[in-house]
Amino acid sequence: MISGILASPGIAFGKALLLQEEPIIIYKKKILPINIHKEINKFYHAKNQTIQQLEKIKNKSNNFFKNQEENIFTSHIMILEDKELEKEIISSITENLNTAENAVELMISEQIKNLNNIKDEYLKNRIIDIRDIGNRLLKNILNIHTMNFKIIKEKVILIARDLTPSEIAQMNFKYILGFITELGGSTAHTAIMARSLEIPAIVGATNSTNQIKNNDFIILDGINNKIIINPNQETIKKIQKIQIEYYFQKKQLNKIRNLPSITIDNHEVEISANIGNINDITNAKKYGAKSIGLYRTEFLFMERSQLPSEEEQFLAYKEVAQKMHNKPVTIRTMDIGGDKEIPYMNFPKEENPFLGWRAIRISLDKKEILHTQLKAILRASQFGKLRILFPMIISLEEIQSLKKEIQKIKIELNQKKIIFDTNIPIGIMIETPAAAIIAKFLIQEVDFFSIGTNDLTQYTLAVDRGNDVISKLYNPFSPSVLYLIQKIINVSHQYGKWTGMCGELAGNEQATILLLGMGLDEFSMNPAFIPKIKNIIRKVKLHDAKKLAKKVLQQSTIQNVTKLINNFMT
Ligand code: PEP
Ligand code: MG
Repeated sequence: MISGILASPGIAFGKALLLQEEPIIIYKKKILPINIHKEINKFYHAKNQTIQQLEKIKNKSNNFFKNQEENIFTSHIMILEDKELEKEIISSITENLNTAENAVELMISEQIKNLNNIKDEYLKNRIIDIRDIGNRLLKNILNIHTMNFKIIKEKVILIARDLTPSEIAQMNFKYILGFITELGGSTAHTAIMARSLEIPAIVGATNSTNQIKNNDFIILDGINNKIIINPNQETIKKIQKIQIEYYFQKKQLNKIRNLPSITIDNHEVEISANIGNINDITNAKKYGAKSIGLYRTEFLFMERSQLPSEEEQFLAYKEVAQKMHNKPVTIRTMDIGGDKEIPYMNFPKEENPFLGWRAIRISLDKKEILHTQLKAILRASQFGKLRILFPMIISLEEIQSLKKEIQKIKIELNQKKIIFDTNIPIGIMIETPAAAIIAKFLIQEVDFFSIGTNDLTQYTLAVDRGNDVISKLYNPFSPSVLYLIQKIINVSHQYGKWTGMCGELAGNEQATILLLGMGLDEFSMNPAFIPKIKNIIRKVKLHDAKKLAKKVLQQSTIQNVTKLINNFMT
């Protein structure tokens, strides 16, 4: 099984087609001065040819984009027509006696180097565009044929090291069930185009071109971010069921997306989205999220060479706040560590990273990281309705220390006359048994709880959440985990506060009625799951859900718990 970055939701089953590119080989030889004109002509000829090709692709791809300005091939053509770049290439040929291909390659490398130095993730993703234009130009200079997508005449799932926007634009979507790339992030155009085409796609799936072979039967599960190679019948059937449900939900989507998540007997709960970056907001809104229950900010710290600056973080949080138009956005301080290592932070080698230096343990040891993040969040809080959420709490002292740090930052911002939300709500994740057990003390320090069932299950059951060997033991329906969840919710209500859930259990339809009956106030999940969960909530009575929860909490085995739930749901 492979996973990566979920770029576009959906499920596809099909034959794998690996895209192999003809390599572009450039010899670094110098030319004789008498050949300067020949090289310049070669460049101009290729440039015109490239513009013509791009014009065709642009016209073909107009329907991907809302307007001309958004069509990225308009900007590709503009880059090619840039007089400065042209001057640079010509002088590289005439003065440094480079071949046309060498001059173009040097120019592309320079542009990419400059973009690499920029700390903005969006601009970084433009590297793919520059590579795309550059490679097309180079192939035209060297007479290398570009990938001919017309030869694809049967339905396939494409696997490639990377896919450029122009390659996607040339595909005949009748035959493309989905695609998987080894490179790319969720803000790359490849991912953006996949989402707008609603083709399932997973990017950043490292090693997929090594592990998947041509004609392998694969499942691209763009709901659970999984790629399964040559699955058995049982898995196929299981995922087919998910696929049918997914497309059914999608159909229902438009009907319920703007309706409240309210039970038949008028009990309303909040349905929110979990996001990892700004682009996920599009999906959150599309699927009808009322708020953001979890913004995993650690993704801002990944795929880069140094910590993100206060300004960078501020701009990201401000954009999320503004895009959500005054609806709540819960920003979780970075939860690095565990399985989310950051190479530039020189982590100590740990025997048990999940029990090690992670999340607020790092923030409290390295206060400068925490201060930068808190300043960015507080500054952005004037542009919307932000909440702060701290992960991996195990003690009262931790939340007290964190609150002291918030206080220090508030004083500093006040002195600098920077506006911020002075009453910004502060919450903690309850994802360790320790926090659940002392919930009564913790709640008195905070405004809300958010239950992280992914970690709460792992730590309660002492079962590594990522270990396939013991995955059978990892079960949030275990009476021990359910007991803690009920305790957390009850405690928060006793103190007049509320509890959300942002672990995967919140988006698990088998758990919805149970959680509703247990009194959960906010369900936060992968946006694609929102419709199905809302659908369940709208069809049930709180009164019945409570009765179910009461019975379930009296059970002593997982088997009995699931039996009761299944009986209720059928
Ligand atoms: C959790 O542990 O349930 C959670 C939401 O946090 P993460 O999955 O990011 O550890
Ligand atoms: Mg967690």
